[in-house]
Amino acid sequence: MTKQQKSLVEQGRNMMGKYGGFSFGGQQPSGVNPYRQMAVCTTFPNGAKSAILLTFDVEGCYSNGVGDEAKEVANYKRICEKIQRCGITATFCVVGQMAEDYGPEFVNRMLDSGCEVASHGYWHDLDRAFDEDKIYAGQYGPEVNAEQVKRGVEAIEKIKSGTVNGFRLPYGYFNEFSYQAIEEVGLKWTSHVGIDDFVVPGQGYGPMPFRMQLGAKIYDMVEIPMDSQTYDWSVLVADEKANTTFVDAARAYCESRGIEFNRTPAGAVRIWKQRISDAIEQQSIFTFLCHPINLVTESEKWDDAVEEFLFPVIEYLGQLYQQDKIWVCTCNELADFYKTEMKSENTNVQ
Ligand SMILES: [Zn+2]
Repeated sequence: MTKQQKSLVEQGRNMMGKYGGFSFGGQQPSGVNPYRQMAVCTTFPNGAKSAILLTFDVEGCYSNGVGDEAKEVANYKRICEKIQRCGITATFCVVGQMAEDYGPEFVNRMLDSGCEVASHGYWHDLDRAFDEDKIYAGQYGPEVNAEQVKRGVEAIEKIKSGTVNGFRLPYGYFNEFSYQAIEEVGLKWTSHVGIDDFVVPGQGYGPMPFRMQLGAKIYDMVEIPMDSQTYDWSVLVADEKANTTFVDAARAYCESRGIEFNRTPAGAVRIWKQRISDAIEQQSIFTFLCHPINLVTESEKWDDAVEEFLFPVIEYLGQLYQQDKIWVCTCNELADFYKTEMKSENTNVQ
């Protein structure tokens, strides 16, 4: 079995450090305590009671993605134009090596459209640089994690300084050494844990941001939980047999909401729109995750998944935002909002 074929959820965890891990596919990281989690029913800056974040992991084939990287890179132009035309913003978490290889024009395209660019690590798969028997941040100690974080941030900062405020580690796999490194470079937010878990119901962390507590240590960064269940890969791309748990989770979500589970762009749009309605109804936040490399995989189910899946979602977010039914923001904006809100809400508590 090659590394790419190994299950993402079965490899050794916490080989280094005591805390962390995956927050998807029925897995739960160890030692996580949400510290000062924001309450639902918050009023956001435009008066809306719900906030929706659109986040992208920009990773080409630096990960286990199998789409056409050249097409993915070309697509960012029209994705960014669409986002801008619809009057919303998004957060792009970019792999450092990819930022270096494709250069300033690639990253500036995202920044020029008013979006946020954050880091998705310098190496997507650490094994390609360090140890072919290991993959995740949780399998390395302080030194490798520090390098992953520092170089990941620098790759983008040298294109435009003052850009990076947040970090999402590859596969969302973290340990205390990765958090230590993120804190040391002075970032404001992280986004690693899952909102909900339909494999093990009740296991998620909820949609609202908090400060990460790992064991006894409370970090300063704002943790923004994301959708690790009904994201693009588990709905559209995951193999029904090899990745059963992921597909089952997306199916279980649909069953819980009484909607049809169709692994097509139209089916994915329906799931994402349902997630938005849930958030509006619950007066909460919801953070979407999309990997544009997955939208350029070959499939008989679509001609162009960017047009058929992503664009209808962006248009819908634009409409709801215009009507002030939701606040669409970047992770950085939400982190700032959290800090202000939590300060004014309870000045006596640290
Ligand atoms: Zn990734």
